[in-house]
Amino acid sequence: MQNTEQYVVGIDLGGTKIAAALFDSKGEILNRERMETANARTAEEVVQRMIDMVRSVSLGHPLSGVGLASPGAVNSKEGIVLHGTNLPEWENVPLKKWMGEALGVEVQVVNDANAAAWGEYVRGAGKRSENMVYVTFSTGIGAGIVLDGKLLLGTTSFAGELGHNIIEPNGPECICGNKGCWEMFASGTAIRNSALELMRSRPSAIAELAAARNEAISSKHVFEACMQEDAVAVEVVDHAVYYMALGLANAVHTFNPDRIVIGGGVSKAGDQLFPALRAQTEKLVMKPYLGTYTIVPAGLQDDVGLIGAAALFHGS
Ligand SMILES: [Zn+2]
Repeated sequence: MQNTEQYVVGIDLGGTKIAAALFDSKGEILNRERMETANARTAEEVVQRMIDMVRSVSLGHPLSGVGLASPGAVNSKEGIVLHGTNLPEWENVPLKKWMGEALGVEVQVVNDANAAAWGEYVRGAGKRSENMVYVTFSTGIGAGIVLDGKLLLGTTSFAGELGHNIIEPNGPECICGNKGCWEMFASGTAIRNSALELMRSRPSAIAELAAARNEAISSKHVFEACMQEDAVAVEVVDHAVYYMALGLANAVHTFNPDRIVIGGGVSKAGDQLFPALRAQTEKLVMKPYLGTYTIVPAGLQDDVGLIGAAALFHGS
């Protein structure tokens, strides 16, 4: 009997580590490997490691493809990492060509936010939706859009940079050089920073919660303190939820999604976040959009990049 199983390797390339996994057609992980990139400096060294990982993780199975999630600016049509934000020496690295030639298989490359969006759409909280907006609130804000069942890439594969939509022209300066980008108000970093700002003049349980676990103050502690009705935390969360909803309302008006999937560390705030976020977004969208979308937490955890990268072959 002929074996019709289609094996795919997904790779999640991060700033400090590479994760790779072998998937079957159902999206089950059959084997996985993980490697630090700290002592591999050049793009050539990192690519060679990924080639070795694909060979070893695939356990000798013939592959239908290798899907790769990369940080930074990626031209997905050409499979080139144009500029790696967490990979400082990466400029115009032709990943698809180098890896495809070495391995003799088709290689597809997307940026990590798009991979996560596609992973959620195919295997996670976006399943059975048709038009999905994925937003991850973590250090910054990442996003990926699926329209009519297709990952929206745009002319140069840069579509979906919602975190850099300007929502306050006179707001604080962003790393991109503009002022008042969405991520300056609604990311995990923004939540932490506004808590620190208020804590300069007001006492708050946030500091104790972080100190008790020997952790640096983060948005996680702000949400925990909010649960205890700490006044500073409540104020910070209310402010952040307003801005998160503002960006989501813009996305609703732009893409008319049926589902909005929220990922990233901030999404773990659960009931501290979602009811308020849904209510605030409803206040901001125009009437015809009410009831046309749902806002749900992401369904996949740390493997979302890997899963989404592999699903570039299995999902379409
Ligand atoms: Zn920006």
